[in-house]
Amino acid sequence: MTDEGENFTTFNSRTLVEMVGDVTDEALKATKIKDLVGVLGGRFFNWAQRKSMFPLHLGIKCCALEMAAAGGPRFDAERFSAIFRSSPRQCDVLLVNGPISKKFADPIVRLWEQMPEPKWCIAMGECAISGGPYFQSYNILEGVDTLIPVDIYIPGCPPRPEALIDGFAKLREKIIRIGGVPSNQREHDAPIIIGED
Ligand code: SF4
Repeated sequence: MTDEGENFTTFNSRTLVEMVGDVTDEALKATKIKDLVGVLGGRFFNWAQRKSMFPLHLGIKCCALEMAAAGGPRFDAERFSAIFRSSPRQCDVLLVNGPISKKFADPIVRLWEQMPEPKWCIAMGECAISGGPYFQSYNILEGVDTLIPVDIYIPGCPPRPEALIDGFAKLREKIIRIGGVPSNQREHDAPIIIGED
């Protein structure tokens, strides 16, 4: 008897929520407010995302020292809204700053998959772009883009902190342009190469 009563109450609560949701949805559609909320919400999330990029605090090899310099007081990348975080679940930028060995391929893909969408990948330095000094080596991949789609390439061995900060600025422009499109649906959007313009 008690179970039936509880089920009855649960059923009614759910029905009420669904009904209110449907009515609200119809009213918003009929008055075009839903479109307005969608446009304003989209603009707001785009602004919030490009003003608060969270790169993963991951150092692979010597380019990581330039990443550290970019985050230090002289260059202070936080002024430009790049705040390094240590958990992939709190990050939206994977900054690859060294060679990817075949042994490291699975872990870096796992880190990428643990990051929430929309997310972005920056290949910093020749090793991350093509293997660098280890090009065609027996155990180093020819660039992180053999595993993960890359949005920004920053050439150099190593690139300077200013180039990394420029990479974040170019990524910000890209976020303005394409918004929150998930990483696996950006195949028609060409990656940006820093220093090419
Ligand atoms: S690109 Fe050059 S500086 Fe960067 S990780 Fe490779 S060898 Fe080191």
